[in-house]
Amino acid sequence: MPAIIVVGAQWGDEGKGRVVDGLAREVHLVARYNGGDNAGHTVVAEGRTLRLHLVPSGVLHPHVTCLIGGGVVVNPAQLVAELDELAAMGVDVGPRRVKLAAAAHIILPTHRALDGARETVRGKRALGTTRRGIGPTYADKAARTGLRAGLMQDPEEFGERVAEAVAAHNRLLQEQYGLTPLPVDEVAAEYCAYARRLEPHLVDGSALVAEMLMAGRTILCEGAQGTLLDLDHGTYPYVTSSSAIAGGALVGLGFGPREVARVIGVAKAYTTRVGEGPFLTELLDEVGGRIREAGGEYGTTTGRPRRCGWLDLTILRYAAEINGLTELALTKLDVLAGIHPLRVAVAYERDGERTTRFPAQFGAEELVRWRPVYVDLPGWTQALEGVRRREDLPPEAQAYVAYVEETVGVPVSLIGVGPDREQTIWSL
Ligand code: GDP
Repeated sequence: MPAIIVVGAQWGDEGKGRVVDGLAREVHLVARYNGGDNAGHTVVAEGRTLRLHLVPSGVLHPHVTCLIGGGVVVNPAQLVAELDELAAMGVDVGPRRVKLAAAAHIILPTHRALDGARETVRGKRALGTTRRGIGPTYADKAARTGLRAGLMQDPEEFGERVAEAVAAHNRLLQEQYGLTPLPVDEVAAEYCAYARRLEPHLVDGSALVAEMLMAGRTILCEGAQGTLLDLDHGTYPYVTSSSAIAGGALVGLGFGPREVARVIGVAKAYTTRVGEGPFLTELLDEVGGRIREAGGEYGTTTGRPRRCGWLDLTILRYAAEINGLTELALTKLDVLAGIHPLRVAVAYERDGERTTRFPAQFGAEELVRWRPVYVDLPGWTQALEGVRRREDLPPEAQAYVAYVEETVGVPVSLIGVGPDREQTIWSL
């Protein structure tokens, strides 16, 4: 079983961190393939809660090597802070365990400033980005003006390249946005220090992956965000700037499709999204508020309240297709206890026309013209937190899971009934 891909099947925050942690026992390498510190993964295990932004969620398992892949964009200040925090908790985050691909791109403070300036200029068309510089860093990557992590091998030279890039960004900030430039020498010195600190962690990421695969080791590819936030296949323009779908693992880490044995789509038992953009099953009523509170639906990275709504199987069917899902991990089933009936969207409708295929490609403006078609399923009142076997779930909860499997056409192999590692039902 060489490569397993864990991908978000909705708009992110599905609980990928806990799924990766749960599977890490069986793998040798956990590799993040896209995104930056706009993502936040939460792992609750062994009596502690880890909030990770860049370090892969396998880090709690001492036998696992963690790789921040070439498809990721890295804010070195955040990475250093995260490594320090984990080290203070007694987690081994030395260079032999946590590795940074030389092809990953570096986020500069001016990328962050540009992100904020662009969001402000967009006004009511703002995308709701986290303003962490992710989009501008990927834009520089595509424009071939970005700085790769590999440059940190020579900290002095890296400092010079940082100074040049910051100066170029400063001109944009001043001339286009009327903002104060950032101090070039100070930033360069700061980044030079990060380079000294992170240099021992640098590796050729695709070489490491190839070596592992050749040796018959299992690698787990951890996605950030989710299918509907994918740059190409999400709800453009309300998307992230990287490839969040399963294909992004191949691009971001550098290996071929024949190595992929399993593709696990992680979905909540309901739907949430942060930021702007269409969300057809959104609940703006008391039920939505109840899900938000019961599910703790506030962003790991930003603390922003997440928009909540009914489970949308049109989305999951789309995710199954785009990612080639072999299975689904359904998290947060516990959160739905006490809600009756439970509505699930099975199709969309407009002017007598009906579709079961998520209409992604014509963009956000097109999507809002559709209305969801719901099926009502019975709810349950029992708490699920203590359940460990699928057959011990209340019959209505079993029926809910079975309905998802049947409609999406993909088996559910993991059910989350609470945030803790132990609160997992393995059902294949
Ligand atoms: P990720 O970015 O996909 O890893 O998701 P996040 O970590 O941002 O969000 C998932 C949140 O839900 C975290 O706070 C998890 O601890 C929590 N969580 C994950 N699975 C479950 C579950 O089955 N039940 C409950 N109640 N919480 C869960």
